Amino acid sequence: MRAARYFGPHDFRLVEIDRPAPERGEVLLRVRAAGLCHSDLHIIFDELGGYPVPAPLTLGHEICGEVVELGEGVSGIEIGHRYAVFGPVGCGNCAYCRAGRDNLCINSRWMGIARDGGYADYVSVPAQALVAVPQAVPDAVAAVATDAVLTSYHALLTVGHLQPGEGVAILGVGGLGLNAVQIASAFGAVVLALDIDERKLELARQHGAAVALDSRQLDPQHPPLDRPITLVADFVGNDQTKLLAQQLVARGGRVVLVGLGSVGGPLLGLRDVADEIAILGSFWGTRQELATVLDLIARGIIRPRVETHPLDEILTWVERLRAGEVESRVALVP
Ligand code: NAD
Ligand code: ZN
Ligand code: ZN
Repeated sequence: MRAARYFGPHDFRLVEIDRPAPERGEVLLRVRAAGLCHSDLHIIFDELGGYPVPAPLTLGHEICGEVVELGEGVSGIEIGHRYAVFGPVGCGNCAYCRAGRDNLCINSRWMGIARDGGYADYVSVPAQALVAVPQAVPDAVAAVATDAVLTSYHALLTVGHLQPGEGVAILGVGGLGLNAVQIASAFGAVVLALDIDERKLELARQHGAAVALDSRQLDPQHPPLDRPITLVADFVGNDQTKLLAQQLVARGGRVVLVGLGSVGGPLLGLRDVADEIAILGSFWGTRQELATVLDLIARGIIRPRVETHPLDEILTWVERLRAGEVESRVALVP
């Protein structure tokens, strides 16, 4: 079968490998769609400060597929049915999993980051990672729901405790951030969208942002909203945006860090202390939240934008995402 694999820094290729056999407790999926995430670029181009990614590894951590084979000991999963894959997997037994925080599982091997993922014709997946896809949700949308929507939902609602009526800034309105704009508006926030690309800003306006502005033109002391910005979510995460997020947030507010644009970053020590700014990291989302976002999508409350392209074109789309030429999200279809 075809698989797009990471062989080490700057070495990502589409190759032929054997179709995997599902191990005990796993199922084999025929991939229907797999979303392309900026995190894939961070892996391929070695931008994670030496974070260990095994090689060779099939990337692709936003997966929707159809069950074609069950491994030993799997029950309650139907051959032929469509499932979205909960990428952080979760062992179900550790203290985090038992507390419902399975995104932080200590025993997990994340799909497409620590074990083979979905840029392939087939992928073997632990059965506990499967979440049924509502009929109304197309394959590519279900795929990007597993991260581009899930991560945005978790960052704003669970980590950020978004409140209706508050002013929220979304920094970076690309694949994740455009969903964040929709989620924040759907839950009653007034949204300031910030990006450096006018096309992304126009999409943010169309998807519910009250104001959308080039972040380089923003005066963080005088943000153009009619209320204080008490929550800032940074979907870029480079040194400039981390600094801007801390400058922009109102006294007593929360900054949620999602983007992995730089490994370190500046802290505004005096400001963060004296104005009680909470700086919060946010990682992916929980399995329960994935079921919730699939339901919100099925009901039309979130409408993720995704374009599909053949898996054979994956290297082109990696380059285009890197060049900022992807409109919002791309999913590869084998
Ligand atoms: P993307 O490339 O689709 O979008 C990034 C957006 O940021 C683009 O619209 C781009 O124009 C904008 N941007 C770039 N530099 C900017 C700047 N200086 N100021 C304002 N806007 C700027 O990326 P994505 O797939 O949405 O991922 C965003 C980030 O989130 C990546 O770093 C990714 O690795 C990370 N991520 C984190 C998690 C998590 O669990 N924490 C999950 C998924 C992705
Ligand atoms: Zn991702
Ligand atoms: Zn666990």
